[in-house]
Amino acid sequence: MSTAGMLSGMAQSVFSLANYTYTPSQLTIGALRTQEPIKRLSLKGPNAKLFSLDNVNRLSIKTGAANADKPWYDVIVEGIGAKGTVRDTFRVVKDTFIRNQVIAHRGAWKQAGTTENSLTSLQNAIKLGCMGSEFDVHMSSDSVLFVNHDHTIQGIEIEKTPAAELEKVKLSNGESLPTLAAYLSEGMQQTKTKLILEIKTSRLGKDRSLALTERVVKMVHQMKAQAWVEYIAFDYEVCKKVKALTPEAKVSYLMGDKTPEQLAADHLDGFDYHQTVVRKNEAWIQDARQRKLSTNVWTVNDKADLSWLLGQQVDYITTNEPELLLSMIQK
Ligand code: MG
Repeated sequence: MSTAGMLSGMAQSVFSLANYTYTPSQLTIGALRTQEPIKRLSLKGPNAKLFSLDNVNRLSIKTGAANADKPWYDVIVEGIGAKGTVRDTFRVVKDTFIRNQVIAHRGAWKQAGTTENSLTSLQNAIKLGCMGSEFDVHMSSDSVLFVNHDHTIQGIEIEKTPAAELEKVKLSNGESLPTLAAYLSEGMQQTKTKLILEIKTSRLGKDRSLALTERVVKMVHQMKAQAWVEYIAFDYEVCKKVKALTPEAKVSYLMGDKTPEQLAADHLDGFDYHQTVVRKNEAWIQDARQRKLSTNVWTVNDKADLSWLLGQQVDYITTNEPELLLSMIQK
């Protein structure tokens, strides 16, 4: 299939899974959802025999396959829709992801002396054993996705520059400016650290932010990266758009101006608020917990602040000092 075909196919993707991970003690992966009525759903491909679909279309993995020393499997699902045969491939991953509170902000770069948002900073966060590594995504003038914090790099405005120009940009550590494809591909080499993907707000208007959001979600699906990726954004409409496109994805809001009650009403999964917001609204931590929303606080680098937040039992802390936070947790 051509790239254009894959993209248009993804826009109308008829399948999604409620969950993308399994463990040897959690063989049920999740329900297969279809956007339109699909008949005769079945599993295809070389791994089909390792999985089963029950009568309510819940995908399960068989014990032998779950116990095997294999980090993930690709499963092909096929059925008959209104316009003929539809099929999609899912990557389901053995859940060996780390459970700690540590999210490396733009990767682990500060102590390591490398560049933020570089592939090396991601590799460092993985090596350290962070639960997640955060990074920021923008879109070039010709709709290619790049990882960088600022809207500009070395004086070049990412949103107004074609990919061919951006690909020539070298980071201070010698790497090329990473594309989202390269970043995801690197992160998917392992199953310990989640990829915390921030969709940046466009300076060119709401439509552009929403177009970026669609592109990002499409790419995550095309690369079968759903098990790895969690989304964050400052733009509330972007957060809601991700949930509309991919309801199973974990999406947290960054701005700090919504109560846990509002987030829950809009079916978001958590807050990821600045520490000043959380200090001012301490009760939100408990409120969020009761609503089964996750709590994440950015960007906390001071030992006393880290200590306070650990005491408050927030789920995650996003920090430029992952080494320090890890050492505090281990004590
Ligand atoms: Mg960010």
